[in-house]
Amino acid sequence: METTSSSVEALALLPLPDLASWSEQQIRGTFCVWDSVALGATAVDLGQLDVNGRIGFPRACRLCMRAHVTGSDAAHRAMCEQCVDDQAVGSETVCDTGRALRRLVLEYGR
Ligand SMILES: [Zn+2]
Ligand SMILES: [Zn+2]
Repeated sequence: METTSSSVEALALLPLPDLASWSEQQIRGTFCVWDSVALGATAVDLGQLDVNGRIGFPRACRLCMRAHVTGSDAAHRAMCEQCVDDQAVGSETVCDTGRALRRLVLEYGR
């Protein structure tokens, strides 16, 4: 089994807002990175990344997380030949991106 953290993958797979537009609260992770809602205990930690030369700690509310993981998964399935083929025969895909997205949907897409 791989031990890769899904939070790191999430950052790479989801459409984050333009880094230049992040507020101080979004960089520090006190507001949702997508809709700037003040975050509580159920916030999803998205990991760390460089935001305009600073270390950002983006976090998201569950509603945004659900919308973006399901949207990204659907968009990926529509354009990835590997995932389309695997889905057609009913097997788990060998596509790393597809598998990572499916994991996120299982975790947050409800
Ligand atoms: Zn949000
Ligand atoms: Zn794929």
